[in-house]
Amino acid sequence: MKTISFKPDDAVHAFITTIPTVSYGDGPLSGVTVAVKDNISTKGIETTCASKILKGYIPPYDAHVVTLLKDAGAAIVGKTNMDEFGMGTTTENSAFGPTFNPLDHTRVPGGSSGGSAAAVAAHLVDCAIGSDTGGSIRCPAAFCGIVGLKPTYGRVSRFGLIAYANSLEQIGPMARDVTTLSKLYAVIAGHDPRDATSVNKPYSHTPSSDMNGLKIGMPEEFFGEGVNPKVADVVRTAIKTLESLGAEAVPCTMPSMKYALSAYYVTCTSEASSNLARFDGVRYGPAIETLKSWHDAYSDQRKDGFGKEVRRRIILGTFSLAAGYYGRYYQKAQTARQMVRDDFERIFRDVDVIAGPTMPDIAFKLGEKSDPLQMYLSDILTVPANLAGVPALSVPCGTVDNMPVGLQLIGRYFEDERIIDTAYAFE
Ligand code: GLN
Repeated sequence: MKTISFKPDDAVHAFITTIPTVSYGDGPLSGVTVAVKDNISTKGIETTCASKILKGYIPPYDAHVVTLLKDAGAAIVGKTNMDEFGMGTTTENSAFGPTFNPLDHTRVPGGSSGGSAAAVAAHLVDCAIGSDTGGSIRCPAAFCGIVGLKPTYGRVSRFGLIAYANSLEQIGPMARDVTTLSKLYAVIAGHDPRDATSVNKPYSHTPSSDMNGLKIGMPEEFFGEGVNPKVADVVRTAIKTLESLGAEAVPCTMPSMKYALSAYYVTCTSEASSNLARFDGVRYGPAIETLKSWHDAYSDQRKDGFGKEVRRRIILGTFSLAAGYYGRYYQKAQTARQMVRDDFERIFRDVDVIAGPTMPDIAFKLGEKSDPLQMYLSDILTVPANLAGVPALSVPCGTVDNMPVGLQLIGRYFEDERIIDTAYAFE
């Protein structure tokens, strides 16, 4: 075992917890510094999900990805800031204060894995682990100018990931370049019997960019209303670059896009309302010491412990699942979810990858999105991949107003290799 000391100048507030002396062993990631999002369990190291309710919680076990990272010799140097329980797009919803974008401290780093992206972009670490329920790896990767992958659903074990919306989320790698991202992905992908949705599709691939004959679908909805025209132009130019290397761009349409955001927010809030029921002061959360009734004690605990956005989503989700409303909301969302899957399947009969912007705009100013609905709207381009479970990544492809723009590449199920290869063209 070797050790390194880790005392970063964390001017961007990327970390919730840092580990001053880290020991690491041999392996493919020997000595590589990795930051881990604070919703991923680390044995003996506080794991808070950026929530007051989990302050002081020390997991008794490692998430599967953490075990794999340690076995590969990685040096896990700290736990990164995030939107509380992954609910947000800017990392402003952290109980411990926001993270700043390393490229411009007046802007957000994106979210919810904003601390992971900022730590990588600020060169505090070599790479990081995030989680992506509706864009939380790709959005901060785009806003901070790094690469981030949401793997195909099932390819990375969620064992030890504190669930927000388990049917949508995946743990994934983030790095400054595609080669490092690919090495990190090779370590964390693979089957784990402790996650019932885990699939036996290990990843061992060396990126190479042969664009010859690659067909790239460009859904018109990804370049339309609500997307900053300057961002759309940068992305079109990036796709032209891929064409100059031998790829062919094909226009297509994705009509289900008009339902995707609603389907996502009904599904994720429903799942969250159920997943977060365990934070009740008995199983998790600070112990209840009052002699109040169970109902009052439970509600005090959750009122104090959860931030505003988390409470909003629990209420929304509880409402959508309530008897009498289930058919009107949750069930409709599942129908829309199937339409999104069907659209992807249809488009992928004619093209190999889908390309568009990752986010409709560049990184927002801190405080700019104070209306929750405005914030939700900015997830429109990232949620379709989560609804369907297909792999998607964001790779920097240019700038607008000196801030990075992310090109989003979406692939067929289990063709993560292909979108990684396409992204490699920008290396
Ligand atoms: N911004 C989305 C949300 O708030 C996505 C978050 C995520 O992927 N964890 O739900």
